[in-house]
Amino acid sequence: MTFDSLWRELEPLGRDPGTGGYRRYSWTPADAACRAWFTRQAEHRGLAVESDNNGNLWAWWGRKGPGAIVTGSHLDSVPDGGGFDGALGVVTALAAVDLLQAKSFYPERPVALAAFTEEEGARFGVACLGSRLLTGTIDAAAARALADDAGTTLAEAMAAAGHDPARLGPRDDLLDGIAAFVELHVEQGRALDPMGAAIGLGDGIWPHGRWRLDFQGRADHAGTARLADRHDPMLPYASTVLAARQAAADSGAVATIGKVIAEPNGTNAVPSAVRAWLDVRAPDAGTVEKTVTTIRSASERFSREHGVALSMRQESYTPLVRFDEPLRDRMAAALAAAGLAAPVLPTAAGHDAGILSARVPAAMLFVRNPTGISHSPAEHAELADCEAGVRALATVLADLAGPT
Ligand SMILES: [Zn+2]
Repeated sequence: MTFDSLWRELEPLGRDPGTGGYRRYSWTPADAACRAWFTRQAEHRGLAVESDNNGNLWAWWGRKGPGAIVTGSHLDSVPDGGGFDGALGVVTALAAVDLLQAKSFYPERPVALAAFTEEEGARFGVACLGSRLLTGTIDAAAARALADDAGTTLAEAMAAAGHDPARLGPRDDLLDGIAAFVELHVEQGRALDPMGAAIGLGDGIWPHGRWRLDFQGRADHAGTARLADRHDPMLPYASTVLAARQAAADSGAVATIGKVIAEPNGTNAVPSAVRAWLDVRAPDAGTVEKTVTTIRSASERFSREHGVALSMRQESYTPLVRFDEPLRDRMAAALAAAGLAAPVLPTAAGHDAGILSARVPAAMLFVRNPTGISHSPAEHAELADCEAGVRALATVLADLAGPT
């Protein structure tokens, strides 16, 4: 099948008709539809599909065994996300298999297409949850207890979807059998466009983390409670948003508060509590730490001024990632030999490839995003660039898994 026809099949799944954005949250019906689609497509190509104990999907081309070359990405999305983030890496992997099978290529080493679960952390709060469980960078018991906004735990959600949460945990046997992991992803930024390049190679990933802030105040009447008597958690929250922006600007980091829940969320009531999530990223760990410390002390000060209790805790942290240089050099050489120019870029976005890079040689391919917009329904990549991504991925797979 062509990339375009595959894309059109997946495109409507989990798409909100109102916003045009995707709501492919893990272990929901939309997620199940995406997983079933991937399984059907992989099996149609003669690949053997299995779900690992952490809910990640693996489609094996040829025998399953050591020295495997793995490619893939994720199928879940952020709230009202774009269609390309994650899905592009899964669809190009299927299309690359088609391209290679059409050339009668058969891998000499095992090849697997992977679709990782809960990469965005949109439902349970921890980004790259599937690859973190696989590599053991999150404790299985802690993961089982993670809850979504409705209070449903990961264990409950997995059980409802027919997966046994008791089996969550690291898989050294699987990881030991992987010789290379290559993740193709839509560019989330705008570096390739000014260079006139359709594809790029990943250099590394900025360190990044998420923190949860709980501002606990006191609910009151919006009309009768005197301003001086209030303990309004919205005020220190609002000041913290501005302080985060300033701290990031001062230190060369980026800081975002993109999720907030006010309780009880009434128009004529002083809220009792405000919960907010802070995301901070920077080129190095010291800058992340300094930025978070600045925001924390500002937030504590604002909370004291308003008689509001604050608790702030880290929900996840991913250290600086440098992708495997020998793998990247080999990919660059194979791409150059195929006439595909691929400049090397850093990224401030987290990926499963970053988590896996601690255990296996990992690399990333990026496909040009002309506007740079991501995590938005406006996210876009041109069809011709996606097709260039398919050719690049097929070239890399043929080189890594082909005759030596
Ligand atoms: Zn992604």
